[in-house]
Amino acid sequence: MVFTPPAWVPTLPFDPPDSIALHEFWGNERYGRVSFEKSRNPFTCGLTGKTYTNAEMALRFELLARALAARLGWHPKRETPWDKVVGVFSFNSIDYLMSTYAVHRLSGVATPANAMYSPSELEHQLRSSGAKALITCVPLLETALKATRAVGIPDDRVFIMDVAGETARRVPFKTLDDLIAEGRALPELEPLAWTKGQGGRQVAYLCYSSGTSGLPKAVMISHLNVIANIMQIRWHEQPARTRRGVETQAYVALLPLSHIYGLVVVANGGIYRGDGAMVLPRFELKTLLECIQRYKINMMHIVPPIIITLLRNAELCAEYDLSSIRLIYTGAAPMGAETHEEVRRAFPGWEVAQGYGMTETATVVSSTSEDDVVVGTSGSLVPRTRARILDGDGREVTEHGKRGELLVQSPSVSLGYHNNERATAETFVFDDDGGRWIRTGDVAVVSRSPAGHEHFSIVDRIKELIKVKGHQVAPAELEAHLLSHPAVADCAVIPVPDQGAGEVPKAFVVKSASVASKRDEEVAGDICKHVEEHKARYKWLKGGVEFIDVVPKSPSGKILRRILKDREKEARKA
Ligand code: ATP
Ligand code: MG
Repeated sequence: MVFTPPAWVPTLPFDPPDSIALHEFWGNERYGRVSFEKSRNPFTCGLTGKTYTNAEMALRFELLARALAARLGWHPKRETPWDKVVGVFSFNSIDYLMSTYAVHRLSGVATPANAMYSPSELEHQLRSSGAKALITCVPLLETALKATRAVGIPDDRVFIMDVAGETARRVPFKTLDDLIAEGRALPELEPLAWTKGQGGRQVAYLCYSSGTSGLPKAVMISHLNVIANIMQIRWHEQPARTRRGVETQAYVALLPLSHIYGLVVVANGGIYRGDGAMVLPRFELKTLLECIQRYKINMMHIVPPIIITLLRNAELCAEYDLSSIRLIYTGAAPMGAETHEEVRRAFPGWEVAQGYGMTETATVVSSTSEDDVVVGTSGSLVPRTRARILDGDGREVTEHGKRGELLVQSPSVSLGYHNNERATAETFVFDDDGGRWIRTGDVAVVSRSPAGHEHFSIVDRIKELIKVKGHQVAPAELEAHLLSHPAVADCAVIPVPDQGAGEVPKAFVVKSASVASKRDEEVAGDICKHVEEHKARYKWLKGGVEFIDVVPKSPSGKILRRILKDREKEARKA
């Protein structure tokens, strides 16, 4: 059985164009972008107020492309895209997206790297992607140079992007503004003039997945993949916007733009929807609250750990006027019904929407709409997306309420993994009719919303399920439940080996301030009881409770369970 979007989800008004590059799609009024007035400001720095208009942004990436072409000896129509790979290793900046468009203007590939990377992690990405140049920022320069020098990228191919005025601290490297100034004196570039279908074949972004389950995987995301997804997101949320009479809104871009969620949903998607982004270099609670208050932010894309931070700092939040916020949109990791309800109680004026996606699907597969929220689910499929669910034996799941692996078909499903045919063949599979599907590795269950629509809940990853005497326990379910206990500020659940049961769940817990003076054993007992009172016996924390200071998480909001598993293994050895 194939699941499709419910009837209220609009169809796309036109096919996502497949013969143009992303920046050409953005710059062309024909494609249904909202309010592309030349004088509107797509990105404004949330710290310094520095901004530019759409027209200026278009000029900036054109001039930057000219300067890169001259310095690197590249041409839009010669060399292959893989000869023109540029790394972007920076905190968020109003120039982040623009700099990737400059690479696209040359028919090159941009590979955004996680700003938290160590030199060796960055080195791995630069080497495996074949990057020939790097755009970075002053605060990350030292790390960047260790990596570029190790892979042999010369220093004169390292360029500095301004992050909230940081370039004022001069360094002996060319800044993007220097290059843009150079570009003014350089000849115009030839047009791209792609052939039919080229946008579907050509890689725009080589994005590295979060590395939650192992080493990050290099995902080849085409221009068409991004164009399709930003169209899918926009039309999925159009009915709610129309009902509210909101044309555009002020939002904040604080999630890392190097991650697919930030890059596609927040940056590319935001400016396609015509919204204006206040850009913050990274998440910092006070700065965010100030930004919301000062710029009257209407909506923000966040991840579950940021929601937890807001909830656990209610007193600080109360010092700011956050009344402009109407909607928060969460994704990238599970947010359970318990947390959703808690947000509703703490911030009654805020709608909460949740989306589900992955790097391999150029982000969004399903999403709740403000008009059709079911607490704790990830909503309904976005336009032109089809889904199947297969049980453990590979049989098609047709009933609601039954779990299985989610498979997805969508124009946003990426081209595959770079230089990894085996993983590509395992993950991107074909059905008998030649239809191409991605095996998400996630466990999903479909339920019906009160309005009668099919909603997808992402239970957990197949590989992370804890197997207790043949029963499967989803860590995400227990974590959501534990978070509803007042003693728990944050938590993560992992499997530990058990003689009788095979595996049993163990919880790592960050104690909340309210129980700081209580004895560990007492708090642990309360927490175990909380599970025993509400959950089936096989889900009980037989592996125990251990207290830690912080739960290790990726910048995109994922619990890095493998770090806790390694730690547990070491502890058991000792
Ligand atoms: P890696 O593939 O390298 O192990 P990763 O899968 O965490 O890392 P991403 O592509 O950033 O890397 O994340 C996609 C995954 O995030 C999904 O496969 C899913 O497991 C999880 N995810 C995303 N959104 C949600 C959501 N709303 N609820 C539950 N899980 C989600
Ligand atoms: Mg993954």
